[in-house]
Amino acid sequence: MHTANSEITLDQNTPVRGARIVLTAPLTEIIDHAGYFIQMSMASLPMWLEGILNRKYPTWRNVEYNTDGSARYMPAGVRVLEASLLRHYAAEDIACCSPADLDKFIGPDTRVVAVSTHNPLGVTFAAGVYTSIFGSSKQPINSHYSMELFDAIKANAHRPGFKVIVGGSGGWQITQTNSWERLSVDCVVEGRSESADVLKLFDMALAGEALPKQVDVVHPKDRNEILFPDKRTTFGVVEMTTGCGRRCQFCVPDLNPQIDMPKDKMMAAVRANVREGNKQISLATEDMFIWGQVHTNTPFYFPNREALVDLYKSVCETPGVEQHVLSHSTIAPALVDPIMIEQITEVCIDKSPIHLPYLSKHPKFKALVPLVGLETGSVRMAKQIMPSKGVPFPIEEWPSVLVRGLEVMNKNNWFPAMTLIIGNPGETDEDVKDTIDLIYEVERRGLFAFFIPSIFTPLHDTRMESKKGVSETRELTPLQWQLMMKCWKMNLRPGQASWWAPTVWRLARSGSGRGS
Ligand code: SF4
Repeated sequence: MHTANSEITLDQNTPVRGARIVLTAPLTEIIDHAGYFIQMSMASLPMWLEGILNRKYPTWRNVEYNTDGSARYMPAGVRVLEASLLRHYAAEDIACCSPADLDKFIGPDTRVVAVSTHNPLGVTFAAGVYTSIFGSSKQPINSHYSMELFDAIKANAHRPGFKVIVGGSGGWQITQTNSWERLSVDCVVEGRSESADVLKLFDMALAGEALPKQVDVVHPKDRNEILFPDKRTTFGVVEMTTGCGRRCQFCVPDLNPQIDMPKDKMMAAVRANVREGNKQISLATEDMFIWGQVHTNTPFYFPNREALVDLYKSVCETPGVEQHVLSHSTIAPALVDPIMIEQITEVCIDKSPIHLPYLSKHPKFKALVPLVGLETGSVRMAKQIMPSKGVPFPIEEWPSVLVRGLEVMNKNNWFPAMTLIIGNPGETDEDVKDTIDLIYEVERRGLFAFFIPSIFTPLHDTRMESKKGVSETRELTPLQWQLMMKCWKMNLRPGQASWWAPTVWRLARSGSGRGS
């Protein structure tokens, strides 16, 4: 194994004329050794604050290599594409590499360079708001590294000989801003790479044919059509579900079919990660609690406790898995089945890499931090944008579901990161007051969640695509600012002693001054 600091030694198998198909992603989306906090920061902080991260994580740019110089780990989406292509092309035709090594893999034989990216231009839920708070230079760090990658591909001496195909959740940013030429992209693919249309596209590129600028491919409808890579993924990401079912109006993943993955395939992917040196695993899902209850005779919002506990136990007890983190969940299931939360905690918490000494009652202060959508504390607003968010409870009880669900979670050392949307279309001062009241109620009861406010972004293809809310931080009302600041004040409580608290505090205060 080599790191970025050591010289890469390419063996004789390395194609000197370049691989026919090169797969890559921005550096910030490949790395995983510096922890989860740095990934969130890269999506939110503007480039001029990169120095803070460099000082805290001086080795964050280091990546690991296989003996042939290819990347030892890649984002899960790239690995799925690789698995899909391996069904039709020879392994020696395909190379996965880090951006810094493109010149070693692109050559006169290269016909396709495929890039996966989730934030090429810095236009996501979290990204816009924080970078605009932090100053006039709005480009988030991860979008800077995406641009650097596109610039390197554009400048490559062999560029006339290959096509550039972009996939991943950020492709829509290129199509919506008409950035094909600027980024030197031939084709943007929306959708998963299992589709036969993706293979057709690669066939065309390999034959040197012109590609359509944009292709929408169909999502697999059946769990058996989903491919599982047999290689190491960034953060040990293994797919758990697609879709959701709660039908929130602003949500992109909910537009995909509700599928829960077969346990045997997930476990094989966990073992593949461990075999290739990964010590961490994360099951990727929009709502972990639907797994095991999709298309059964029981509605998905009544979780299958036994199946879930068994799955998490199998993952956490896999020899070699030292760390496991939860991804997304909803909160109503905590109220539907508090015993399930207790039992999942028992099997998972010792493997959590997250420690919250100020909050956790675990002997080693370990904590579980799933990402949960709060979005709004206003029942009026919730009825409009997410009427099924709290099922089986009626949406009129949303604030209470939130507080009672959080009680169950906190009792078990779960301290979720909760997202809020500020500036929803039609949001009134009364709606904002209801959300502020809910945050105060959480505080009054001695409960805790990390509240992550963001400004409404009409995301491509969602049911709210054409809606307009607040689009700039300077349009925020004093009450909306108050909500934003209240969230961050709460968040800093457990972090007061941490290295990043003073910086965030200073920045948040300067931001509030500009906005009000
Ligand atoms: S609960 Fe979350 S994943 Fe499900 S539809 Fe709503 S926002 Fe999307």
